[in-house]
Amino acid sequence: MKPNKYSYFASGFAIRADPSGFCPAYGPRLAGGIIRTVRDLQPMTLIEGMEPRMTQYTIVANQAGGPEVLEYVETQIPTPGEGQVQVEVAAAGLNFIETYQRSGTYPVDYPFTPGSEFAGTVTEVGPGVRNLKVGDRVATSEGVNGYAQFVVVDAAVLGKVPDAVDLRLAAALPLQGCTAHYLIHSSYMVRSGDVVLTYAGAGGVGLLLTQMLKLKGATVITTASTQQKKDLAKAAGADYVVDYDQVPQTVAKVTGGSGVHAVYDGIGKDTFEMSLEALRRRGTLVLFGGASGQVPPLDLQRLNAGGSLTVTRPKLADFLTTPEERAWRFGDVLGWVAEGKIDVRIGAEFPMARAADAHRALEGRQTTGKVLLLP
Ligand code: NDP
Repeated sequence: MKPNKYSYFASGFAIRADPSGFCPAYGPRLAGGIIRTVRDLQPMTLIEGMEPRMTQYTIVANQAGGPEVLEYVETQIPTPGEGQVQVEVAAAGLNFIETYQRSGTYPVDYPFTPGSEFAGTVTEVGPGVRNLKVGDRVATSEGVNGYAQFVVVDAAVLGKVPDAVDLRLAAALPLQGCTAHYLIHSSYMVRSGDVVLTYAGAGGVGLLLTQMLKLKGATVITTASTQQKKDLAKAAGADYVVDYDQVPQTVAKVTGGSGVHAVYDGIGKDTFEMSLEALRRRGTLVLFGGASGQVPPLDLQRLNAGGSLTVTRPKLADFLTTPEERAWRFGDVLGWVAEGKIDVRIGAEFPMARAADAHRALEGRQTTGKVLLLP
């Protein structure tokens, strides 16, 4: 494996992490005195007494199961191939899909390192990459193996992070931000005046979705399981925040009995029937997740009986299909954050080594907003 120009350490000494985030973080076994900053290093030169850093720490699962299958192990630092770059991860975003992958609900190949969303700094550029250079700050929701200190990723799916944007914020936004964006623009196009039902209003997607729905002029009914979560959902702009069992009467009251224009349902098994019942004639149910479990097969006659209903089951990958589409969605989301129109809540940060605890918290309904893993 080829060492890169920022991957050197001396036994017992760590290279100081530059405050700009330009230098790779030192690994857990490298705690020690500071010898010099990365700015002193020359490309592809070894400092006397130093050896190339070849390994890193990553999360690896060797089988499907509970959070305990997520082990923190030493692995080789990957080298970028054609069209790829190596990124030193500053923060990785935790997303519910990783619990489906870990548990076996979504099949994966083993050994498996979860993580499609992260932000960090380019540390090596592979052949054929023209648009990125070492030191660029980047983020993506479309990577792989992101629960790691270093990842290799296709340059085409990386967006540059403006200097003014913190890398943790950049890691918190792409996946859930672009999801909320496509849900309201492309799965069901929300119009001003629509009444919309969502769930988990204090969740990662939920907080962003509510704020974007309000930007579009919709009336938002949402749910949350605790008072703290209800307060957060309300502060995000939701018009009605209720317990799950209060949904039918709230929908009836707010819509005068006619039902909502659309439901965005990321809870799945426990809420699906209630979501169908909440729709008005020709309403749309966007089932975008299964936090409570997957929805069983649906009898299409149910849509006829419910009033010519539409049900769609989208996923983000089908809504980030071209450079233009990526630029549109991520550009809008970043722009709204920069203009102060939407707020991003980072509800918890876990050391990467504790990824299993982060999964427990997410599945245990203990988190709000975005959860980050820090290498
Ligand atoms: P959240 O932060 O929203 O966490 C999940 C929340 O769901 C919990 O905090 C809890 O909120 C609520 N919930 C209700 N019932 C359960 C249950 N039985 N077990 C666990 N949680 C439950 O997660 P994310 O924002 O990361 O994801 C939300 C949903 O969006 C997920 O289903 C995910 O798969 C989906 N998703 C889909 C995408 C797509 O493109 N299709 C992309 C991104 C996410 P409370 O306690 O308030 O009820």
